Amino acid sequence: MLEIKDLHVSIKDKEIVKGVSLSVKPGEVVAIMGLNGSGKSTLASAVMGSPMYTIDSGSVLMDGKDITNTEADERARTGLFLLFQHPPAIPGVNIISFVKAAKNALGKEGTSDASAVEGNAFSHELDTALGSLRMSPAMAERQLNQGFSGGEKKRSEMLQLALLQPTIAILDEPDSGLDVDGVRAVAAVINEQRKKGMGFLLITHYQRILDHVKPDKVHVMVQGRIVKSGDASLALKIEQEGYDWLGGNADTTKGSA
Ligand code: ADP
Ligand code: MG
Repeated sequence: MLEIKDLHVSIKDKEIVKGVSLSVKPGEVVAIMGLNGSGKSTLASAVMGSPMYTIDSGSVLMDGKDITNTEADERARTGLFLLFQHPPAIPGVNIISFVKAAKNALGKEGTSDASAVEGNAFSHELDTALGSLRMSPAMAERQLNQGFSGGEKKRSEMLQLALLQPTIAILDEPDSGLDVDGVRAVAAVINEQRKKGMGFLLITHYQRILDHVKPDKVHVMVQGRIVKSGDASLALKIEQEGYDWLGGNADTTKGSA
C-alpha cells in the first residue's frame, strides 16, 4: 500500500505541491484529476524520487516503510512504478532488453534452474501484454521510445508495467495523446492488473479513461492541493461542469503541460 502524508514539494524554491495526503491500496484505482499546471506531475515525480524536485515536508510510505528520503531505484524495489507523462527515448536499447535489465535490477529475474521456467513465464506475460495492448511483437524489439508516436510511447510504458509487475503504479496521463482504441488498450491492461491486485494512482486530465476504468476514489487537485475528493461520480460531475465550481484560479491558458 502507498501512503502519501501531507506532502509539500518545491522546484527551485517555488512550492508546487502544498500538502497532499492520499493512499492507494492493492487492487484500488485512485484517480487524480486537475487542470494543467495544478501540480499532478510534480506530485508523481516527487513520490517516485526524481532528484529534480525537493520534498520539503511530509512523507511517502510503501507498506508502512518510510521511503521519503530514498533514491528512485530503492523506491522501485519497494514495488513502486511511474509511467511518465513524457517518457524519454533511449536510443540503442530495445524494449525487451530494457525490461529484462530492469527486472534484474529489481531482483525479479531468477538465475539457476528456475530460469528456464521463468523465461517461459516472461514470454507468456509478454504475449499477453502485447495482445491486450494490440502491439506487434516487432514493436517490442524497437529502440525504447525512439521515434515512437505519442500513442506508441504510452503502449510501450504500459508494456513495461505489465512485465515488471509493480505493486503500485503511478500513471501520469496514460491517456494523453491516445485515440479511442489506445485508451481502451491502456484501460484493458489497468483492469487486468487490478484484478491481480496491482494498485493504481491514475492521473488524468479527462474523465474519458474513467469510462473504462472505474475508480474507487477521485481526488481533484487545484493549485497544488486536493480540493475535493469523492467517488466515480465526482469525475462525471467534472466532465459536465468543468473545474470552475471547485474554485481557485486554475490556469486554463496552458497547452498540455
Ligand atoms: P500538471 O502535471 O498538473 O500539469 P505540473 O506538476 O507539471 O502540473 O506543473 C505544476 C507547476 O510547476 C507549473 O506551474 C509548472 O510550470 C511548474 N513546474 C513543473 N516542473 C517545473 C520545472 N522543472 N521547473 C520549473 N517549474 C516547473
Ligand atoms: Mg502533468
